[in-house]
Formats: sequence, structure tokens, C-alpha cells
Amino acid sequence: MTIGIDIDDTITNSTQKVKEYLEKYDSDYGNQLLNNLEEIIRGFLIDDMTKKFFNDFAETMGNEIEVKENAREVIDKLRSEGNRIIIVTARSNNFYKDAQKFCEEYLKRNNINYDKLITSQTYKIECCRNENIDLMIDDAIDTVENLNKEGIKSILFNSDINKSKETNVKRVNDWLEVYYYIHNL
Ligand SMILES: [Mg+2]
Repeated sequence: MTIGIDIDDTITNSTQKVKEYLEKYDSDYGNQLLNNLEEIIRGFLIDDMTKKFFNDFAETMGNEIEVKENAREVIDKLRSEGNRIIIVTARSNNFYKDAQKFCEEYLKRNNINYDKLITSQTYKIECCRNENIDLMIDDAIDTVENLNKEGIKSILFNSDINKSKETNVKRVNDWLEVYYYIHNL
């Protein structure tokens, strides 16, 4: 099958790193950034200070973000079993000089193997349709809910941001759970 995988908070521990930077630099940007953590993670930059912060730090943070436990191993195993892996991210040239190149280099450096990388996808429905994605894995509740509504199977990777929110979609806690879920489909 073809499996779509988001980057931030799905392959990587992004919230953790962004929070670290926000705590360090919030006072330089008007002390409002921590309130906008979710928007920043999602790339919905709602005011000038948030935009400026993201402009200043997106690439620095992006390079330091760590890959989640077992992400690399499970993705390799899924590929070795004949699945096609497409990485689909909202990261775009708004805040990265060249988002495609930036992500390619990051994934290569971190030994994440995949078949295709698609950047600049805030809403992932069209991309999932075009690429015939059978299952999408993402940490954004609205993305997962909307994909399911459109008949595209999608599961939610739990994160600090989404775990307290109500939803009926299937949740997974870690990459081993992703693997068992796919094998039980
Ligand atoms: Mg994400």
C-alpha cells in the first residue's frame, strides 16, 4: 500500500524543540509566542511577531529537531515489506529558503528513507488523492478528520498538543503502534 507520513510531531519531536526555543526567546518577541505554540507548530502564523520568530528560527530549530523513537526502523520495515512511503509536510518556502531541499537534507542526515517527499501541503486531501495514498499518518486532528470524511484512511499520531482534544479518530502513541495497526488492517 501507499502510506503518507507527516514530518512535524509524526516523524520528529517538533513541539518539544519549538517550545524550548519559545521559552528562551519569548521575551524578545513580545511574550506572546508561548500562547501561539499550536499555531506555530502548524505553520499558521497569526501575527507579525510569530512570523518574525518563525522566520528567524525555523531552519535552526528544524535542524535540531530529533527523530522519534523507532520512526526510522518502522519506516524501513514497511518499505522492505513492499509499501510505498510518501512524506507529506506543510513546510513551505514561506519560512524555509528551500523547503524541499531543507527536508531532503534533514531526512538524509537522519537516515529516514522514503520514496517521495512532497512539501507545502497544509491541507493534505488533494495530495493524498493525487498520490493514491491508502493511509495517512498525521498529528493534526483536523487533517485526520477531514481525510477520513473524504474516505481516505488516516490515523492520528498523539502529541502534547492534540492529546487533550476530543476526536473519534484512531490514535496511536508511538511508531510500534503504527506498525501493528498497519499489520492488522
Ligand atoms: Mg505535523
